[in-house]
Amino acid sequence: MRLGFDVGGTKTDAVVVGAGDEIVARVRRPTGWGAPEVVRTITELVDELAASLGIQRSQFTSIGIGMPGQVAPGSATVAHAVNLGVDELDLGEAIGMALGVPVRAENDVKAAAVGAYALHGMGRARADTMAYLNLGTGIAAGFVKGGRLWRGARGTAGEVGHISVDPNGPLCRCGQRGCIEAFCGGGAIAERWNRAVALPVLDVFDAADAGDPAAIALRDGLAYGVASAIRVIVLSGDVETVVLGGGVTALGDRMLSRVVDELAAGAAASPFLKSLRLAERVELLPPGSPAAALGAALIGAAAEAPVAPEPRSSDRQRSDRKAVFHG
Ligand SMILES: [Zn+2]
Repeated sequence: MRLGFDVGGTKTDAVVVGAGDEIVARVRRPTGWGAPEVVRTITELVDELAASLGIQRSQFTSIGIGMPGQVAPGSATVAHAVNLGVDELDLGEAIGMALGVPVRAENDVKAAAVGAYALHGMGRARADTMAYLNLGTGIAAGFVKGGRLWRGARGTAGEVGHISVDPNGPLCRCGQRGCIEAFCGGGAIAERWNRAVALPVLDVFDAADAGDPAAIALRDGLAYGVASAIRVIVLSGDVETVVLGGGVTALGDRMLSRVVDELAAGAAASPFLKSLRLAERVELLPPGSPAAALGAALIGAAAEAPVAPEPRSSDRQRSDRKAVFHG
């Protein structure tokens, strides 16, 4: 049985995944701040899950941990997890060695991409290519082909948040103007809305419905940013499906309908964009989806086995997950 964790700034989501990739147990709890507390959160969840299943923690075969931050492919070290108060953390040493279970770490958006792909395929024909677009404080995407993450040469594949789509647009924290993230990142919207509310994006949508011109501009900008991200992703990766997830998608159809309208406006103006059928390729991850924790568990499974030779390309589709998710 494999363990998967999605360690977020506020909550940690933990799942146990069985042999058929099904989730057999799930627990969530608040995440502690700073490396020692993050480690304690994970360790206590391991014990809680073991107890709930009536097993010893040594019976877990692998641990995969998704975290916001930089993770070198195939490693268990997370760097610059700023919103967790973690500068650098070797989870293999802190968790794996303490529990005697092999550990892999992964960037949380990339883990969610793998999990969304696994969930997406359940109950119907599995699309071969998919992108997961995370609409959270920041904006980033992960590409998956045949269940395998595609990182690019240096790991920046899918960093669509900092593609500028308007040279006269709002200033982005990266220094450019009109970045996708400056339009639709939850952090950028909260900053520009500048009101002390718990859920700034929801507040913007409510105020826009009430006719507030500044809120309408922010809401329309959000739709423009998300639609631009979808265009960029499909035009560069030609993925069959773009799955949207992350905190901003809690608005559900209120948000998605605006994005679909924006895509429709683009299609009405351009026969080329119309031919891409972008609106039909977009799906929303259900609220509270375990995608990131599930994906982390699937990636973590690669830590179970010693390094295996790459499968031949003809074997890749039916090779086991140890090989499929390796690296
Ligand atoms: Zn930027």
